[in-house]
Formats: sequence, C-alpha cells, structure tokens
Amino acid sequence: MKPILILDCDEVILEFARPFAQWLHDARNVSLRFDSFALMGNMRHISSGELVQPEDFPALIDGFFAEGQRLQQPAADAVAALTRLRGSMDLVVLTNIPENWRDIRVQHLRDLGLDLPVHANDGPKGRMVRDLAAGRTAVFVDDLPPHHSSALKHAPHVGRLHMVADATLRGLIPAAPDAHARIDTWAQAAPWIEQWMEQQ
Ligand SMILES: [Mg+2]
Repeated sequence: MKPILILDCDEVILEFARPFAQWLHDARNVSLRFDSFALMGNMRHISSGELVQPEDFPALIDGFFAEGQRLQQPAADAVAALTRLRGSMDLVVLTNIPENWRDIRVQHLRDLGLDLPVHANDGPKGRMVRDLAAGRTAVFVDDLPPHHSSALKHAPHVGRLHMVADATLRGLIPAAPDAHARIDTWAQAAPWIEQWMEQQ
C-alpha cells in the first residue's frame, strides 16, 4: 500500500494569518496584529480601539470560513511540492474547520489544483492521524505543537513534521517538542517527507 501524507490546511497548505487579518479589516473593521502567537488579545475593533472579547471570536472565525476562504492563497511552493509528492503517496487533509464550511475548503483547494479528500476535525488530531494512517507508512504535517503531542500519543509510528508557513508567525512559534523535525518551507519539507517514507 502507498504511504500516506496527512496534511493540516491553515499555515501548511494555505496561508491563514494574512488573509484572516485582511478579511477582519475589510469585512469587520477589526485589526489583527501578531505581537504574540495568539488570535485573542491581538484583535481590536478599529473604531473604538477595544480588544475583541472572547465571546465575539467564534462569530468572526465562522464568518471568515463562510466568506473569506477564497482569500487564502497557497503557501509558497505548496502546490508544486504536493503535486510531486502525490506521485508516490496518498494525500489527505486533516483540518480543524467546522463541518459546515468543509465543502468550501474542498472546492477552493480543487480550484488551486489540489483535488484532495478533506476531513473536518475538532480538537486534538492524534486519534484521526492514527485512523488515517491505519498502520501505513505516514507523515503528519501541522503548524500547531499540541497536535504533534496528540499524534505522538496516539500514532507514535507516524512521522511528525512541524511547519509554520507564514514568515511572520514562524518567529513566534518555537519548534514543537514532540515533532521529529521543524521545517517551514515546502522546498525543504518535500525531500524530508520523501526520505521518511523511503526509510520506513
Ligand atoms: Mg494549521
């Protein structure tokens, strides 16, 4: 059976921080500045200068997934790298997006040349990584360290690659302690993935 590459979407295949900040500004008159790696505490209503309150956040992220996903461009070199990798492995997307907005993501990825199965997840990803890998040789790529800890716990045989595609966020997110490697560009990540698959 072919190896399987399990991919997060936001900040791995597609940009997230930049288009989300753009949509917040244009559609909701909210500014987002990454002074730390968090959304809460870095979002302000432009008219009043007030911080966005936690209870207002779900509507903003939902609004983006409903209206703004098409602003999300591919991470640098992602389409070329994934097109090459899919010649020798199966690709699947494991993304924490509400099920309601999954079809928009599927279509948007397809329009960018990435016709891929997309699994909508909620919470830690380790169990889904285990189920998708199902004993096959596998690599999991995600920008968020807790998902690597969860994958280590539930699917320790899976290669874990920590990638933060956004150049600004990179400096704010330390290497995930439970990942095997930290590589932030697709030009360098693709050979690492191929090597992992070949060595298992
Ligand atoms: Mg992500």
